[in-house]
Amino acid sequence: MRSAQALDQADPLARFRAEFHLPSGQVYLDGNSLGLLSRRAEGHLQRVIGEWRALGISGWTDAAPPWISLSETIAAQLAPLIGAASDEVAVTGSTTTNLHQLLATFFDPANPRNIIVADELNFPSDLHALQSHLRQRGLDPARHLRLVRSHDGRTLRPADILAALAPDVQLLVLSLVQFTSGQLLDAAALTRAAHARGLLIGFDCSHSIGAVPHALDADGVDFAFWCSYKYLNAGPGAVGGLYLNRRHFHRAPGLAGWWGVRPDRRFALTALHEPAAGASALHIGTPHLLSLAPLAGSLEIITEAGGIAALRAKSLAQTTYLMEQVESELAGCGFALVSPRADAERGGHITLAHPDAWRICAALKAAGVVPDFRPPDMIRLAPAPLYTSFADCAEAIARLQKIMRTKAHEKFSAARPIVT
Ligand SMILES: *Cc1c(COP(=O)(O)O)cnc(C)c1O
Repeated sequence: MRSAQALDQADPLARFRAEFHLPSGQVYLDGNSLGLLSRRAEGHLQRVIGEWRALGISGWTDAAPPWISLSETIAAQLAPLIGAASDEVAVTGSTTTNLHQLLATFFDPANPRNIIVADELNFPSDLHALQSHLRQRGLDPARHLRLVRSHDGRTLRPADILAALAPDVQLLVLSLVQFTSGQLLDAAALTRAAHARGLLIGFDCSHSIGAVPHALDADGVDFAFWCSYKYLNAGPGAVGGLYLNRRHFHRAPGLAGWWGVRPDRRFALTALHEPAAGASALHIGTPHLLSLAPLAGSLEIITEAGGIAALRAKSLAQTTYLMEQVESELAGCGFALVSPRADAERGGHITLAHPDAWRICAALKAAGVVPDFRPPDMIRLAPAPLYTSFADCAEAIARLQKIMRTKAHEKFSAARPIVT
């Protein structure tokens, strides 16, 4: 195994670390929950605040670029990350609201095929949205939402997903990368399988955007949605996004609002909703400019770094390095690797299971390493290719090894506090 130092020296992305505000004294491995602030994202936010200060309402037209089309400007920058054309992307909403919008746009309760398939490992918010959408449409989620079970409680078997696609299924909604295990699904194969059975397929890309390349157009995916505060580093509550394959441009927005109206008719201010072209029709209200601006800075950095392929290459090298370190340095400590070993099946983080995971995470934080705990027993470690070094990865494992050797975690309470 090459040393962390040698890997850092050979790393073509090493210079981007200086673009970020790194919490001092900490090894930050939680970029899959909240990416760190970059100077570029901060700069774009400050620019919009300055424009607001100087221009007031004229910022909508006179800012550079104008606020009125900032979502579209950013959509064009973001489209390569998901393998789509600019007009198939809307930078808007949040993961959950975008799922609601897409369900309202796609799901037809009058179709006798009225079952939605999702999986039991998906993030709860997606399952809440699916259930509440069915209820809104007068359908009982207990009957109309079918969840693919996980054979091991950690990952999904493609065969189990396919087995759920009965003739009564209309829609399949999955996370491309599981937030727990980091398992990466095969979008192309699942889309082929869904379409061969005459059903529609959409992916939650919250844990994949900015971490792995997507080819949503080439794969023929029907729709997708994501957030921008994880691997896109656009800040807490940053504006998310959605993808609408151009095959579906004729669909009327399920949830309509004036920002989805043709830009030249928006200020006609009539009750008639004349939809904007493409995915922009799925905008609802005024864009959240201050939560949108930082994303422009994040995307600028990714483009300069050589795009998602360059990020993915480093991310795979780092997660592989971490897995090797876990095996060599933490053998006999009771950790089990939950993430798939194969590169093609793994997203941007690795997950370790340990019966004492909660206390180990508490001890790691006290030792200056920021991991992420997921119940009941999972520790997620996410190296972010733009700002995490191999030395950070090595340091995190060294501190974890020391905790296990000295049983430092046993000083922490095993009871998890209720977060309110
Ligand atoms: C992060 C994440 C969410 C969060 O939803 P928000 O609406 O952005 O709060 C939802 N689903 C998945 C799969 C996620 O990873």
